[in-house]
Amino acid sequence: MAVVGVDFGSLHSKIGVARHRGIDIIANEVSNRATPSLVAFGPKQRSIGEAAKTQEISNYKNTVGSLKRLVGRTLNDPDIQQIEKKFINATLVDAGGTVGVEVNYLGERCTFTAVQLAAMYLGKIRDITAVELKTGITDVVIAVPGWFTDIQRRAMLDAASIAGLNTLRLINDTTAVALGYGITKSDLPDADNPRHVVFVDVGHSSLSICVIAFAKGQLTVKSTAYDRNLGGRDIDYALVRHFAAEFKEKYRIDVLSNAKAVFRLAAGCEKLKKVLSANAEAPLNVESIMNDVDVSSKLSRDAYENLIASVLDRIADPCQIALAESGLTLDQIDAVELIGGSTRIPAVRARIQSVFPGKVLSTTLNQDEAVARGATFSCAMLAPTFRVRDFALHDISHYPIKVQWEPTPSDPDDDTELTVFSRGNAIPSTKVLTFYRKDAFDIEAKYAEPAMLPGAINPWIATFSAKAVPPDAKGDVQAIKVKTRLNLHGCVSFEAAYVEEVEEREEAMQVDGEAEAEAKPKKTKRIIKKKEVPFVSGNSSLDSTIVEKYKEQEAQMHSSDKLVMDTEDRKNALEEYVYDTRGKLDDRYAPYVQAPEKEKLLVALQGAEDWLYTDEGEEATKSAYVSRLDALKVLGDPITNRYRENEDRPRSISELRETL
Ligand code: ATP
Ligand code: MG
Repeated sequence: MAVVGVDFGSLHSKIGVARHRGIDIIANEVSNRATPSLVAFGPKQRSIGEAAKTQEISNYKNTVGSLKRLVGRTLNDPDIQQIEKKFINATLVDAGGTVGVEVNYLGERCTFTAVQLAAMYLGKIRDITAVELKTGITDVVIAVPGWFTDIQRRAMLDAASIAGLNTLRLINDTTAVALGYGITKSDLPDADNPRHVVFVDVGHSSLSICVIAFAKGQLTVKSTAYDRNLGGRDIDYALVRHFAAEFKEKYRIDVLSNAKAVFRLAAGCEKLKKVLSANAEAPLNVESIMNDVDVSSKLSRDAYENLIASVLDRIADPCQIALAESGLTLDQIDAVELIGGSTRIPAVRARIQSVFPGKVLSTTLNQDEAVARGATFSCAMLAPTFRVRDFALHDISHYPIKVQWEPTPSDPDDDTELTVFSRGNAIPSTKVLTFYRKDAFDIEAKYAEPAMLPGAINPWIATFSAKAVPPDAKGDVQAIKVKTRLNLHGCVSFEAAYVEEVEEREEAMQVDGEAEAEAKPKKTKRIIKKKEVPFVSGNSSLDSTIVEKYKEQEAQMHSSDKLVMDTEDRKNALEEYVYDTRGKLDDRYAPYVQAPEKEKLLVALQGAEDWLYTDEGEEATKSAYVSRLDALKVLGDPITNRYRENEDRPRSISELRETL
């Protein structure tokens, strides 16, 4: 069974697979180890990943990125309206209460929810992996930002199941990194004197930091902090604004009024940004940015750092928070590890350094692949078929979670809420709550501090309704136990409800030999029996019927994409056969073909070529291309066979000689 870990990045995603010699990051169909996190829609098919990137500029309105930034959100969330909208060209719409996109697909306006888009992308990740492993995959671990809330996590899980994937765990990005770091170290200290490592990930859209205590065979997350909206894309955005203003003066063009020009400029800015990570100055050249104007400029590192100061100035804060909340002093920090593409920027490093003076900022991990590697280790630990060294992983919840209930008539002044999982609570974790009731009752799980949540995410998490609570024999209240779990994915669920009934039973002590048994005293044993209380619970996961519906829709789009690709492939094969055979008839096949036979084949080849350029041949079905090619081969194969037989003969004779 395949063991797969996915780093679902906002810009690129990376896939890790476990093999017997270790973990490999795999390459996609164009041999890249990172696949653009993009989904696009066209008149004939969808394009996902690299194919979506290729057509991004020409089809920007129907190309969607920032997929993980959209799941679990609503259209009116200020994070979507004020932030994500800046980075998305497709039309964002409301899709049944969640954010979705409206695109042109197969010649029609279609709406897809963010969860469906993420599912399409995860389907591509599944296919890339299946090609590499030459087997279907189901079980995966997907890394998500530690600041993801219950609704975002459930949306991601729904997306994975629509893509036919079984998520063994949603692991927090930086926890995955820490796992990959710790599990490969053979020199970790004892638990009473742990090694403390800070991990800082500055990616394309967000910044995450965590402080981890490593000891032999385990890691414990001490603290986490985030800036959800700080990354390379904010720097690119500032650069685009800067150069657009400059070009308005210099070339009298308004780049910002032209979406394609913005793409061209953004690509140039990203390049310039990367050059500035290693050089004091960098050029910017964009040919034919718009109106046939070529633009050029340059930027010094100093000017660059001034330009992006407002982004840089926000880096120290979360670093300071993580350090303070870890309860550790600077002296106790043994290492600071950097990951994520944007930590290559010297000014980003300088801001991190300012919080950890005197510490070496190390990059012992592969900056781009550490999250995917860690997620893969996590999958290997959870997959029954794979053996990895035991390593305990103690992660924590970023947000405090409470349950709330209605006061009972008999106790109107009683508490009506309780923080069940405080900030920093272990993940996973189970708590049993006791309610004294004799009637049906409802409770709700909620985030306790809504102000901490991203954007306008609703603090509501889940509901629980106990039906028909049986009063005890005297008609009095019963102690009803409700099992609440913060599960491995970081989601909250109500798992069981029951009353405990104590039964006392007298039992003879176990003794050897029957004769003595009579003389021994009897022991009373208390047996606690659990009697289930029926309940229903609700959360933000999609209803299974909707998941099934999306699954069907996805399978249909997938097979239609495949048909389009196969058709294209057969069309190319026919075209290639025409040109290839025609060339060879005058060349290597010449000694093996009679004039009338050649003439007949040439006419057929010409017929096929002419047909290919008619409207019908341009847009034919797969079977039409296949049958045309088969018909040509009926004429061509005898010639090819004669040629091959003859080619093979001398070799066989020389081989024969060698063996004699
Ligand atoms: P996120 O984790 O926020 O979802 P991601 O995982 O897709 O995003 P990364 O792959 O970690 O992001 O980083 C991509 C970002 O790093 C891009 O903005 C890219 O321009 C930037 N980047 C990569 N290399 C360099 C470099 N040499 N100098 C500056 N920036 C760089
Ligand atoms: Mg990342």
